[in-house]
Amino acid sequence: SELLRVEGLKVAVEGKEILKGLDLTINTGETHVIMGTNGAGKSTLFNAVMGNPQYAVTAGRIFFEGRDITDQPVNERAKAGIFMAFQSPIAVQGISVENFIRNAKSTVSGEPQRIMPFRKKMHKQMEGLMMDRSYGDRYVNDGFSGGERKKTEILQMCMLEPKLAMLDEIDSGLDVDAVRIVSEAVSEYHNESNAILVITHHSEILQKLIPDYVHILINGRIVKTGNAKLIQEIEANGYDAFKEQAK
Ligand code: ADP
Ligand code: MG
Ligand code: MG
Repeated sequence: SELLRVEGLKVAVEGKEILKGLDLTINTGETHVIMGTNGAGKSTLFNAVMGNPQYAVTAGRIFFEGRDITDQPVNERAKAGIFMAFQSPIAVQGISVENFIRNAKSTVSGEPQRIMPFRKKMHKQMEGLMMDRSYGDRYVNDGFSGGERKKTEILQMCMLEPKLAMLDEIDSGLDVDAVRIVSEAVSEYHNESNAILVITHHSEILQKLIPDYVHILINGRIVKTGNAKLIQEIEANGYDAFKEQAK
């Protein structure tokens, strides 16, 4: 069934139009990949869907499960089941990974999370991600390597159990083993009642994750939608052919 529908979306950041009329529909059970040139507006799309107030919607609508969420604040969207893993996760001083995720889970689910069952579940997920349990007690991303930050984002996703998981370059800066682990974790999370939307520049993240659709985003618009073969085409020939179409 339909999860996300973006219609004619225009988004401005600091007064500059970045998304210039973007359409995208995602159904449950699907995996979508967004590729595109640097600065095309990929992260802007995620921020707009998440409701980051720095990204002003100037035209178009965003629907989630058929409801217009265009004017909803971030926390309402998170409660509705939208999650975004950041391209550059920041450190949060003074709060441990475990408490951070447990608070977030209590908020999005509307149910207080009891410490022991939550911890047990989190440790199980950490095992899958090959993260030492000690990360649960550390301050969020404080002194974490790039790869550890990305794994922490995926740990959050696994615990929050969103319907729509938007992963922004979750594979950037990861070594080959970490990419495989993250790819497996996301693939394991994916099921018929949720959807995955991934921004990536590399095909390695798709080892275990089979994309149903690949979209090319250039200059604020999706200029082409295809299947996984599109990725090979881009890896071989770059974006030049699509840039022409974007004009
Ligand atoms: P992509 O993720 O496709 O590389 P982004 O969506 O991050 O591109 O950025 C698109 C454009 O919007 C870029 O020119 C970028 O500098 C600008 N931009 C994005 N976010 C911000 C922001 N918070 N403040 C100022 N400019 C921004
Ligand atoms: Mg699927
Ligand atoms: Mg980006």
